[in-house]
Amino acid sequence: MKTMIQEKFKTLFGEEGMLYASAGRINLIGEHTDYNGGYVFPGAIDCGIIAAIKPNGEQKVKVFSLDYDEYVEFGLNEEDKPEQQWARYIFGVCRETAKRGGKVEGFNAVFAGDVPLGAGLSSSAALESCFAFALNDIFQNGIDKFELAKIGQSTEHNYTGVMCGIMDQFASVFGKKGALIRLNCKTLEYKYFPFDPKGYKLVLIDSCVKHELASSAYNKRRASCEKAAAEIKKNHPEVDFLSDAKRVWLDEVRDKISEEDFLRAEYVIGEVQRVLDVCDALERGDYETVGEMMYQTHFGLSRLYEVSCEELDFLNKLARKHDVTGSRVMGGGFGGCTINLVKDELCEAFIKDATEQFTARFGHAPKVYNVVISDGARRL
Ligand code: ADP
Ligand code: MG
Repeated sequence: MKTMIQEKFKTLFGEEGMLYASAGRINLIGEHTDYNGGYVFPGAIDCGIIAAIKPNGEQKVKVFSLDYDEYVEFGLNEEDKPEQQWARYIFGVCRETAKRGGKVEGFNAVFAGDVPLGAGLSSSAALESCFAFALNDIFQNGIDKFELAKIGQSTEHNYTGVMCGIMDQFASVFGKKGALIRLNCKTLEYKYFPFDPKGYKLVLIDSCVKHELASSAYNKRRASCEKAAAEIKKNHPEVDFLSDAKRVWLDEVRDKISEEDFLRAEYVIGEVQRVLDVCDALERGDYETVGEMMYQTHFGLSRLYEVSCEELDFLNKLARKHDVTGSRVMGGGFGGCTINLVKDELCEAFIKDATEQFTARFGHAPKVYNVVISDGARRL
């Protein structure tokens, strides 16, 4: 990929650019916890974006996307927003950097990536953090890494209309080989934990479905969580988010909230604890416990939080049947991937059977991605 990028850069601009890379991400555990002030536990993966970049001494960005085979030029002012969706991410990063007082001048760029688009691995965060990191380095703005992640997040908010949280960009900027990062979504404190599962693989199985329910269900889940937290707060004023509540505090308000709100809250409080349990297990190198927690999360998402779907439950069940160590739906639910922690020797049979059975049942093949936890944004 690097060679192709530099060759194209030379053809277009007559010299070589500086190379930067960034990554997509997975989230091992900690789902629907972000808006409840809880933990997420992501890591960067070995697929991402690579870009060759060099200032061009003009007030214009000239950029070529190898994957779209498309060249775009745009200026650096707010009214210069390009038409192409992919270019808007780069334009957004330029604007958000400038809004933070960073210097951004014209540059030439060629880039390509290998994060599957829209599969739940956050190809958009990879793109944003690659350019955010690169511009910060090239123009020596000295913006700290957390702010670089926020530049990506604000790009999504202000230039593509996606009101995402900070996790994807955070993981893409802060990711490290062999480590996952526990991020406290309330305080934004974070801590690295070792993740180097020798003898296991991380396998993502993409159901390639996205059910329509997703956004209305999301709002309803949020409302349930807020109601439960508000009720608990009456007894325990220190509770601002569900993540602040102990399980027994939820039991105290059982007959004050609806059964549905209770189940939603039960899931969230359990999930916050599971992230902590997984972190402890990783410090002992105990991947069997990690896997069991992943199954518990799946159960919770499916039965208590009710954001799974037939396709994902099917894949989860099949994982159990194949003695896969851990398996759960990853992301908001109603479609997308399952993330599986699989012993090396079981991998082939599991993937083959999952592909065949899923295809027979649902009429289309799932997509399979093997990922390794790797470095986030960096200069190559
Ligand atoms: P995801 O869940 O993968 O982040 P999004 O819809 O948020 O899905 O982002 C995908 C968009 O990001 C693409 O439509 C494209 O505009 C941009 N993008 C991601 N990867 C690339 C790439 N390799 N080349 C060009 N644009 C890309
Ligand atoms: Mg995205």
